[in-house]
Amino acid sequence: MERFDVIVVGAGTAGCMAAKTTAKSGLSVCLIDYKDAKSIGDKVCGDAIGRHHFDNLGLAYPRGDELERTIAGIEVYSPDMETVFRLTGEGLYGFIVNRYAFGQRLLKEAMDAGAILFDSTQVLEPIVEGGFVRGVVARDRRTGERRRIPGIVTIDASGCSAIIRKKLPPEMGIETTVDKKDEVICYREIRALENEIENPEYCKIYLDLNIAPGGYYWIFPKRGNRVNVGLGVAAVEGFPNPKDQLYKFVLNRHLFKDSTLIHGGGGIVPTRRPLDSLVGNGVVIIGDAACNVNPIHGGGIGPSMTAGKISGEVISEALENGEPSVERLWPINVRYMRSYGAKQAGLDVFRIFLQNLSNEDLNYGMKYRIIKEEDVLKTGLEGDVRLNITDATRRIFMGLGRISFLRKLYRMARKSRAVRRVYREYPQSPEEMPEWRMKVKAIWEK
Ligand SMILES: Cc1cc2nc3c(=O)[nH]c(=O)nc-3n(C[C@H](O)[C@H](O)[C@H](O)COP(=O)(O)OP(=O)(O)OC[C@H]3O[C@@H](n4cnc5c(N)ncnc54)[C@H](O)[C@@H]3O)c2cc1C
Repeated sequence: MERFDVIVVGAGTAGCMAAKTTAKSGLSVCLIDYKDAKSIGDKVCGDAIGRHHFDNLGLAYPRGDELERTIAGIEVYSPDMETVFRLTGEGLYGFIVNRYAFGQRLLKEAMDAGAILFDSTQVLEPIVEGGFVRGVVARDRRTGERRRIPGIVTIDASGCSAIIRKKLPPEMGIETTVDKKDEVICYREIRALENEIENPEYCKIYLDLNIAPGGYYWIFPKRGNRVNVGLGVAAVEGFPNPKDQLYKFVLNRHLFKDSTLIHGGGGIVPTRRPLDSLVGNGVVIIGDAACNVNPIHGGGIGPSMTAGKISGEVISEALENGEPSVERLWPINVRYMRSYGAKQAGLDVFRIFLQNLSNEDLNYGMKYRIIKEEDVLKTGLEGDVRLNITDATRRIFMGLGRISFLRKLYRMARKSRAVRRVYREYPQSPEEMPEWRMKVKAIWEK
């Protein structure tokens, strides 16, 4: 069988972007997906993407069938519904897409650039020889035939299933497992309401740690009177079933009276900092497989495409210079970690803090604007947690007997900044990695 320069496992947002970038630079690229070509892009999702991702990646904005709605911002509701943060501004403009049409467009762009699609093909494991990943073993789902598909570089973009990452030998230096408690389990439905929702240009996020422990529930307006409504919970021991929670606490509300179900389904989002390293000899991990997701809101389409583009560019350069050793692929780590990775890591500290609060903490925190609306945007975009604690708020919290909450907040913000600094100083080469890993380990263990 022909040997490809690049094998991309998974034709999701990460994989299509990596395949397009590498194929465009003239490499031979094989894009493999478990699904048949017509089902690629059919993914359970919230369907929301910030416009800045399209600008940064040089992607055309969605239009026609692909565009469900243009979004002006996000409304975040406190658990008691008394406070609503309306977040708007440049970084919050975005789109609700038809996820299927969007996925099909990305696939077409990858194939137009020259990538060859092996659809209905299940990747089973990596081929590891001489300390390098040299391709994959796959099974044709139509014929049941198993075969080896050799490749110089293999990219794992297989989403949460992370089929390559999970089977890498330890000497590759890549984390093979992700802790369950760093995942959020979601269930979402597309529903047609009786009437169009109020303020449909805003995505709505509802915080309630009793209804959605460790996560949140959302209503994102789609075309006309359709909405994407879902709920996610942290996968900690004894977590409730998100579908039950959605039916019990959200879909029984007046807004959904006489609404009709168009589609329902579940999914997993890894909501933590990225893997410490995305690369090994002959292998790169991107997208959900590498935890390239915003830990606070779980948005992973933008970062997965960013990781796909960075890896495609670095691989194209690396292959001009010889074997794709970990050293040659290392710039993928440096570029990702010093930009989006640093933000993700800072926000991961915030996520862990938020998951351990009570509804009361959230109600008071939002009511007294401990983080101002305009700073929430900065936190979301840059990962910089800015607090707004004045003498007046201090007195109020003292009166409420919750001064320790403010102290914890200060500590969290300090730690979040420290973590971002460490990721911005991500090592230039794998030799410096053990020292960096020790620093990171010390931070997360605390
Ligand atoms: C309920 C829910 C709501 C979300 N809402 C949003 C949102 O509103 N905005 C946002 O930005 N993000 C959202 N996300 C996250 C976002 O969907 C993901 O982060 C993003 O799609 C990651 O893309 P990916 O390419 O890494 O993986 P995926 O899109 O999951 O693609 C992986 C591909 O690999 C294929 N595959 C898997 N295993 C194999 C195998 N063994 N062999 C061959 N192929 C294989 C799959 O068929 C699939 O096509 C949401 C996620 C969920 C679950």
